[in-house]
Amino acid sequence: MPSAIYDTGNGIVLKADDVRYRLDPPRPVANDRNVVSHAHSDHAPLRFRDVPILCSDATYDLLRLRRKGLRRTSCDNVELLDAGHIPGSRMIALECCDIRMLYTGDFCTRRKNHLSPARPAPCDVLVTETTYGKEGYEFPDHEETVGAISDWVDSNLASDRSVVLLAYPLGKAQELAYELGGRPVRVQRGIGDNHRVLRAHGFTLPTEGLGNALPTQPVVYITSGLGRESARVDRLVKDGAKTASFSGWSANGSGWRPAHRTDEEFPLSDHCDYNELMEFVRLCGPERVLATHGFAREFSESVKNELGIDAGPLQRGQSVLGSFV
Ligand SMILES: [Zn+2]
Ligand SMILES: [Zn+2]
Repeated sequence: MPSAIYDTGNGIVLKADDVRYRLDPPRPVANDRNVVSHAHSDHAPLRFRDVPILCSDATYDLLRLRRKGLRRTSCDNVELLDAGHIPGSRMIALECCDIRMLYTGDFCTRRKNHLSPARPAPCDVLVTETTYGKEGYEFPDHEETVGAISDWVDSNLASDRSVVLLAYPLGKAQELAYELGGRPVRVQRGIGDNHRVLRAHGFTLPTEGLGNALPTQPVVYITSGLGRESARVDRLVKDGAKTASFSGWSANGSGWRPAHRTDEEFPLSDHCDYNELMEFVRLCGPERVLATHGFAREFSESVKNELGIDAGPLQRGQSVLGSFV
């Protein structure tokens, strides 16, 4: 019987007998089993201090680009399952003391061309992210969104205009590069570094940058738009380029904005929307759902009311005792 699950502020901890599993800790702890779901900075360790972590091969290589002193380990009762969120992302399934716990990390069940989607897996306890876990957060059809992006890019290129796509360097950047293959795609240097790593893991992704001069032919430029890139984006815009941003938040106009005001906004997301989250929970069939991130309280209410499954937000510092199974 696990004695507790809690959000410590240094990862979500599942304590079982003498072992502590620590999921997505900013500071891995020696003698715990430290498991990292994906390479986004809010999930990956800030420092390692020589403590080995468990993660997918691609996540390990992406992290090694930016973190020193990384070491790895493995563990028999930890299984890493596709999370469909960004390249290398995994859900974490733990088997211990006769219970199976599934921690989703960030995840996405939508079918995409460049990633395997997250698939529901039977479990007793499901710890799920609920970024869009509130009724009303529904994304439009994915194929349609991708089609609209391609059309917008092509009409600009046909009018001899470059386009600047402001995207997260890990996640959206790869999806856009993949979907816009066959066009003159150029990427910010850091994105190119990610792509060189990911090519070794079977992803077909462009690495070519822009150089310092303005492009002489129209290009599709993928960049975070942050830091030094901001001035470059300004120069491209002055030269006639059109800009676009991408976020699930655009789905209901809730106000997320990138550093730049853009000409277009597309509702592209690396997360599940509300209906996809509910369907995922239903198909996993857990006895208990613990919600983290975003609309944890609202989502727990929906799970209780609509699915009849015991649910609650996993709050920092609050321990959920083992008697629930
Ligand atoms: Zn993430
Ligand atoms: Zn996250």
